[in-house]
Formats: sequence, structure tokens, C-alpha cells
Amino acid sequence: MTNTVGQLINGEMMIDGSRSQDVYNPSTGAATKQVDLACAGTVEQAIAAAEAAFPTWRNTPPARRAAVMFRFKQLLEDNADKICEMIGEEHGKIAHDAMGELQRGIENVEYACGAPELLKGEHSRNVGPGIDSWSEFQPLGVVAGITPFNFPAMVPLWMYPMAIVCGNTFVLKPSERDPSSTLYIAQLLQEAGLPNGVINVVNGDKEAVDVLLTDERVKAVSFVGSTPIAEYIYSTANANGKRCQALGGAKNHAIVMPDADMDNAVNQLLGAAFGSSGERCMALSVAVAVGDEAADTLVAKLQEAMGPLKVGEFSNRDNDFGPVITRAHQQKVNGYIDSAEADGCKIVVDGRNPQVEGYEEGFFVGATLIDNVTTQMKSYQEEIFGPVLQVVRANSMEEAMQMINDHEYGNGTCIFTRDGEAARYFSDNIQVGMVGINVPLPVPVSYHSFGGWKRSLFGDLHAYGPDAVRFYTKRKTITQRWPSSGVREGVSFAFPS
Ligand code: NAD
Repeated sequence: MTNTVGQLINGEMMIDGSRSQDVYNPSTGAATKQVDLACAGTVEQAIAAAEAAFPTWRNTPPARRAAVMFRFKQLLEDNADKICEMIGEEHGKIAHDAMGELQRGIENVEYACGAPELLKGEHSRNVGPGIDSWSEFQPLGVVAGITPFNFPAMVPLWMYPMAIVCGNTFVLKPSERDPSSTLYIAQLLQEAGLPNGVINVVNGDKEAVDVLLTDERVKAVSFVGSTPIAEYIYSTANANGKRCQALGGAKNHAIVMPDADMDNAVNQLLGAAFGSSGERCMALSVAVAVGDEAADTLVAKLQEAMGPLKVGEFSNRDNDFGPVITRAHQQKVNGYIDSAEADGCKIVVDGRNPQVEGYEEGFFVGATLIDNVTTQMKSYQEEIFGPVLQVVRANSMEEAMQMINDHEYGNGTCIFTRDGEAARYFSDNIQVGMVGINVPLPVPVSYHSFGGWKRSLFGDLHAYGPDAVRFYTKRKTITQRWPSSGVREGVSFAFPS
């Protein structure tokens, strides 16, 4: 053990010291650090720091708030290699994938740099004779974010840059499984000139989260993680009077139509299913092939293309993807493959227990392809979150769409086709929040907003982009009249008509 990852509160690093847990390098399987787990008192200290910083930050002009984000963006770019190394060491994702994650996060910082424009509000002159009316978007106060392990840089950057430029102060509770890059990035924001207390990071687990959900000084909670926890976060935050958006899990289907460019579909599916070891909420984990002929061609081409795929250690750029996050998760993913096999599926490519020379204790699962999956199976119904692509066969596009619409998750989906009419019908009628047409990972850019439907998102507003301005502010509408001197109106008891 070399060090302990601590807490950032009011601009200072501290260690709570009451509880801690191991942080692993998933490529080697070795515990390399400890993460300090904040107790309730430490989280309360972070909330108090954020509350104290709020009045001044709220009144800091948006252009000055944005200026901090411009410097932050530069620091993120200057330190990109170091950040990606930290991500690789604790998450396991390969270096160029980590760079892509960071780039997506930086794009959210760039969007936040537009705060003066985003917060201009709405103005109407002469809504009545000599009467003007306008809406302002005022900050909420202390806002909390709770984030998952799979994007330790990007997902926190979906949240606090926008919350902060809108004039709020923030307490972030990152994943305890890969905390270092998240903490380091927050320190860079501090270095960019943010006043103490505007961003605070508490590492911890349920004990820390529960304080954020119940403390009345916290006005809103953004959450990203698995669906059972998202549902708990949403209902608890709501019961405590807080605004909440809670993004959950996924099971993203791609429909492969018989007229699709099969070679292109195969290439796209490989990256979308196995990139980042399938540990992406937008990973394509189910391919629904329409017609047996299309299914047979698809499976044969996928099998061939998967031969050369390499799973291995994060810093080797020849590898296509890295390990999964923990030993327990590796076993869980293998368990889903076992259950599909027991249900009678064909394991076309078996990634259980791959040999990775020199990294025998790493948490690796190889790319896996499973055919003849049906909708009643547990491995179909649940999120696997590993490098496993399941193929389901459908007789028609309607049947394929019905499967997607019946699934409890509705995060992302995609159709591969050459038929514009089919694509239009699909995007119009599919019950999913983010839709791709020949685009396998339809992750919205930073100036749109990100979110699924059904049990993939609890709440009304999506993450980042324009919805973030609405989520992190409350509207105040002001109506103003300056009566000309000497003119006074009489009393009226009726609405003006
Ligand atoms: P998780 O739900 O286990 O953890 C997310 C956060 O919640 C962590 O900070 C964790 O400490 C906290 N947490 C865990 N258990 C808790 C409890 N009982 N009470 C209070 N807080 C608790 O998720 P994960 O394994 O870190 O991340 C993977 C999941 O996140 C997958 O399901 C994936 O689909 C989902 N995800 C969704 C999106 C999206 O945008 N919809 C994006 C990324 C990840």
C-alpha cells in the first residue's frame, strides 16, 4: 500500500480515518491503495463548506464563473496523460479509451464556459402598458452529485461544471472503486481559481450518500449508477424535498435489418459491445437480427471478426479492451454466460477465463458472443455490464421493436439499415431516450442532453447540456411597472381583461 485517497473539503485535503477500503488495479488484481470512507460528520463538514461558499459564489458574475472553467479546461488538457494513467490503474480501461472519456468530459466544461449566454434568461417588454416581465434562472444552493465507477472522469464532469457556473456550490461523492482521477480533476478545478468550498469531494459509500440525501441544506441531487440504487436515490431525495435526477442501468439493443451493410454493422457492433469491456451504460449488449438469414450472416461475421480481439493491460495500446472492475464483477459476468449456456443458448465465442500472459490475477473476461438468446432468459433481462454480446432472432422489424419497447430499460438503441423509411419509423416509435441510425453509440454531444427512458432514468430532466441549466437553476419571473409620476390607478378586484 502506498497511499490513501482522502477528502477535498473547503479547498483542503483531509483524511477522515474512521473507515477505509482497498482500491485495486484490475489488470494485476492487486490492492494498490486505500480509499478513506467519509463518516456522516465529514460529509456534514463538506456541506457546511459548500453552504458557506454559496452567497459569494451566487453573486459572482457568470462571466467570472465561466473564466474559471476556461482555465480548468486548459489544466485538464495539460494533465490529460496523467489523468488517463490514473483511470487505467484503477478502472482498467485502455489508455486511448480513457482519453476519449476525458475528451467527452472536457466538452462538458467547454459548454459550461458559455454560462453568460446560457443564463441570460427571458425578457418581454410591454406585457401590459408600461409593464415589463422577465424570467431569471437563479441557483439552488448546495447541490450533490453521486457517480459510478465506469466513467470516473466524464460522469462527474457531466454534473459539477454546469452546476457551478449556474452559481451553485457542489459536494461530489464519486465511486469508491476508482476514486483517484476524480479527486485529482477536482483539485485541478480548485487550482483553476475556484474559491474554497465551491467544489468539495467526499469519498465514501452508503453512509456518505445517505447524508447527502437527507441533509436539508442539500437542494438537489444528480445521480448516475445502477437502477436499483437510482430508484433508492430518487425516492429518498424526493421524500426529503429535493430535486433529483437519477440515471440508471441499461440493456441497449441494436436492430440489424436484412438490408444493412453487414460488414459495417459488424465493425460498429464490435466497438460498441466490447469497448471498455462492455462497462458502458451505452454499450450495445443485444443484437436483434431480423430474419434467420441475416442472423446467420451476422453471427458468422462477428465470430470471425472477434478472433483477433485482444483483452489485456491498460497501458498496452495493442489491446482492444481491459479487465472488468473487480473480481466479484468478473465472476458475475461469467455467471451470466453460464446461465445463458444452461438456458440452451449457443456460446459462439467464449470469453470465460482468458489467458493474459503476465497478468494471471487480473479481472479479465474475453469478448463473448452468445446466439439464440430469448427474451425470457435472465441473461437477456438483466444488465450484464461486461464484454458479452447476445444475439436474439426476430421475424420482423415490428417484433424486434416490440422486444425493445417491452424491456425495462430504455437508455440507448440503434438500427442498422439502408432503408430511410424504416429508420424514420424506428426513431419515431421506439421507447428509448437516445437513438442511433447506423450510429451504434448515440451519446448526445455536450450541447444536447443525455438520458434514457423507462427505468434508465428517474426524474424529468436529462444530464448536461440545456437540461442541466434547468436542473441546476430555479426560475424566477419578475413583473415590473414604474408608474409615471402623479398617475395612480384605482383599485381593481378583477383580472385585467
Ligand atoms: P452503483 O449503483 O453500484 O454505484 C453508483 C454510486 O452509488 C456509487 O457512488 C456508489 O458508492 C453509490 N452506491 C452504491 N450502493 C449504494 C447504496 N446502497 N446506497 C447509496 N449509495 C450507493 O453503480 P456502479 O456499479 O458504480 O456503476 C455501474 C452502473 O451505472 C451500471 O448499471 C451502468 O449502467 C450505470 N451507469 C448509467 C449511466 C447512465 O447514464 N444511465 C452512466 C454510467 C453508468
